[in-house]
Amino acid sequence: MTKHKLIAGNWKMNGALQANEALVRDIAAGLNNAACTVAVCVPAPYLAQVRALAQGSALALGAQDVSRHAQGAYTGEVSAAMLCEFGVRFCLAGHSERRQYHGETDALVAEKAKTALAVGITPIVCVGETLAEREAGQTEEVVKRQLAAVIHVNGHCISEIVVAYEPVWAIGTGRTASPEQAQQVHALLRRQLAAATPHPERVPLLYGGSMNAANAASLLAQADIDGGLIGGASLKAADFLQIVAAAGAAVAG
Ligand code: PEP
Repeated sequence: MTKHKLIAGNWKMNGALQANEALVRDIAAGLNNAACTVAVCVPAPYLAQVRALAQGSALALGAQDVSRHAQGAYTGEVSAAMLCEFGVRFCLAGHSERRQYHGETDALVAEKAKTALAVGITPIVCVGETLAEREAGQTEEVVKRQLAAVIHVNGHCISEIVVAYEPVWAIGTGRTASPEQAQQVHALLRRQLAAATPHPERVPLLYGGSMNAANAASLLAQADIDGGLIGGASLKAADFLQIVAAAGAAVAG
């Protein structure tokens, strides 16, 4: 019997009112007795809609970003308190697309995680190396640096976060890390957490990067892979539910 798993979908900048309705209803209906926690991180304008659609189901609500600031003159940003008002339980912090296209630094990502934690939202902190960094043998150094910033800023609260290892070269590319490659980095992250908290096993470590119905089971079977962060495959209810089923089977098995 392994640990309870967490499967989180990341819709990225996808969705439309009508399409969301079918997607969320189908996912929610498929979650009866799901043996894992399941969430969808949706674009901010759809939080209210998805919250209403998911009401009464086991589907948890997530956001894709949060402002580091509490309130004020920060045009375009969304605060943690606002997310709370919509029943948000999880929030991505430092997704590689935010790091790459919006210049988010390790320090900013750490602050965002802290802001989320302060209002009771669980940050899903994303770390991962680019292809160039992997090929240069820098994977370990990069993910350790990214996580170290979050540990430094969040101190003992670190046991309340979720970490997603997402190799940038595997996101949206159809190229997945092998279960062994992913496990190797997850074990490294676990060791790093062990130096910061007495209960490193309580921090769910998700794998993300082209996870799909076909490869989910072998990734989720790894000792330190506690779930998945799913982009493309979270946009089709049947595919997403197959990953949820694989997570449930990994726990039972
Ligand atoms: C993601 O966006 O976090 C992700 C893992 O995307 P994909 O599953 O499409 O690679």
